Amino acid sequence: MERLAIGIDLDGVICDSASLIIPKLFARFRPGYQPAKKERFGFDLGGHVSELNTTQEELLTFVENILIEVEFHQTVKPVEGALEGIQKFYEQGHRLYVLSNRPETVDLGKRFDAQDLTFSWLKRHQIAPLVTSLILNPDHFDRDFKVRKACELGLDVLVEDEPDEAMKFVEAGKKVVLFDCQRKQYSVHQDLICANSWKEVVAACEMFA
Ligand SMILES: [Mg+2]
Repeated sequence: MERLAIGIDLDGVICDSASLIIPKLFARFRPGYQPAKKERFGFDLGGHVSELNTTQEELLTFVENILIEVEFHQTVKPVEGALEGIQKFYEQGHRLYVLSNRPETVDLGKRFDAQDLTFSWLKRHQIAPLVTSLILNPDHFDRDFKVRKACELGLDVLVEDEPDEAMKFVEAGKKVVLFDCQRKQYSVHQDLICANSWKEVVAACEMFA
């Protein structure tokens, strides 16, 4: 099996952020409205903008502020099967990069080190020793950061849960596993495999290797 450089998104793929953030988003931007119960972990922020009374920028700022809360890091759980899947990749000899749009640091009167908080969370859940590097976005509003970084690092495969982001990787010539995919139309791309569990993520990467 070929050894791959695999970029793994954090929120919605490793970290079950959606189950904490989505209810907060609706409480803030559409109070009283009950979104359909989410059965899965996918964290398609773009897909929520139309349901919420807000703009993409306001939504990103709100999410950014949650992502640097100490309480969020203490509470949020890994996505089911993530540790086992990442362990499997590690045993197969792949190089693993956690590649996230989370902000590196945020200035809220004092600078929060999101890198530190995120790294501690990965350590607490036994994921940190398995990955080569944790890469966060210096500019949360730069939405092409991940695709640029994936090219810069020469990553072979990306595991991603936001369909728009996934398509940017495909257009840049990368292989992509679209995690938690409920939009079957994306399966038409030969370089993109949809996976609905971490077991399927591992199986998809075995096909790419
Ligand atoms: Mg994500």
